[in-house]
Amino acid sequence: MDFSLTTDQQNIRDTILKHCSRFGDDYWLARDREAIFPHDFYKSLVDGGWLGIAIPAEFGGSGLGVTEATVMMQAIAESGAGMTGASSVHIPVFSLQTVVLFGTEAQKARMLPPVVRGEDQVCFAVTEPNAGLNTTEIKTRAERRDGAYVVNGEKIWISTAQVANKMLLLARTTPLDQVKRKADGLSLFYTDLDRSRIDVRLIHKMGRHAVDSNMLFIENLIVPEEDRIGPEGEGFRLILHGLNPERILIGAEAVGIGRVAIARAARYARERIVFNRPIGMNQGIAHPLAKCWAQLEAANLMVMKAATLYDRGEECGVEANAGKYLAGEYAFEACHTAMLTLGGMGYAQEYHVERYLRECLIPRTAPVSPHMILNFLAEKVLGLPKSY
Ligand SMILES: Cc1cc2nc3c(=O)[nH]c(=O)nc-3n(C[C@H](O)[C@H](O)[C@H](O)COP(=O)(O)OP(=O)(O)OC[C@H]3O[C@@H](n4cnc5c(N)ncnc54)[C@H](O)[C@@H]3O)c2cc1C
Repeated sequence: MDFSLTTDQQNIRDTILKHCSRFGDDYWLARDREAIFPHDFYKSLVDGGWLGIAIPAEFGGSGLGVTEATVMMQAIAESGAGMTGASSVHIPVFSLQTVVLFGTEAQKARMLPPVVRGEDQVCFAVTEPNAGLNTTEIKTRAERRDGAYVVNGEKIWISTAQVANKMLLLARTTPLDQVKRKADGLSLFYTDLDRSRIDVRLIHKMGRHAVDSNMLFIENLIVPEEDRIGPEGEGFRLILHGLNPERILIGAEAVGIGRVAIARAARYARERIVFNRPIGMNQGIAHPLAKCWAQLEAANLMVMKAATLYDRGEECGVEANAGKYLAGEYAFEACHTAMLTLGGMGYAQEYHVERYLRECLIPRTAPVSPHMILNFLAEKVLGLPKSY
């Protein structure tokens, strides 16, 4: 049992924090206000080789594990870049793992290096308006025609689709009423986001305005057969392999945003004088902050345990889900506590914690809700009957 980062992991954390210090509070505040994708931040991480942290070296990456990617994503969020900074690179860092694991050598050589080099930008298109968390019910259809697939359907919440030119797409290749199990008959594609066949419409949302989320209306999109990842009909099982790493990264990002919120609040509580003393002398201010610190660090241990298990090739579903749940809940409490600590200034944009509060609701609810995680833990850990 070793609770410390290795020297290399500590170096990643320190280097990323230093790198991100070039993009200060004003940068993120302006991106959020203007709702403009942080292209220069993204490019700086591309130039530093960071997008390929978990991509094998033969395809231009660093070949490191999910633990190292977790350390990196946490440091990005914790630097003050929050979910805006983390989400801008989250999809290339995480979702390409499906291609790494299940793509052919030719697909990997074709698909991975352009993302690492920053030439291709990718989004992840799974969620649908009429299926929600019940992914096997998705309605987007990919029908074989003349050696290709013709795709029709709708997706919702697809992040970065305004700036992406590629997408990982889950679609049904065999109708639901013709498969033995609901998870059968879905296929995964890595293909062009062809705007002549896909109408991308922005969703106006609560926070993280610089990183867009969208509805996609897909009409007769032609997807070549060589863009299918893995066997036809196996797509759902392929994306299941990516779910644990995604929960781990999101959990780490949530801890990061919680930490920066608490650090800002503690600084304010040391400096703000009311009734002739720093407000941090009041235990009503100090204790909630201390409690949040303890909660975030406990959540982080669970997240890092999950990452370590994953990289050892061991089962980590329980820990990845529990870590994401704890991190999401405690990050929310931390950001809310930070806002209350700042009093009225907590509501002013120039103090940044209101932005963290808006953004921390994303890892709380996505990619899987707290309810569904508790359903999973109740069933898998406690042996309770499935409730849905
Ligand atoms: C900012 C943001 C970015 C996103 N980016 C992406 C992206 O890039 N790509 C992508 O594919 N998706 C993305 N998503 C989608 C996200 O993964 C979904 O919103 C999430 O999976 C929840 O699905 P839903 O919104 O359809 O909820 P629903 O399935 O409609 O559920 C609604 C509520 O009911 C609860 N509920 C439903 N069934 C049960 C049950 N059996 N027991 C208990 N409670 C239940 C849920 O927990 C939830 O609280 C994003 C979402 C957000 C908000």
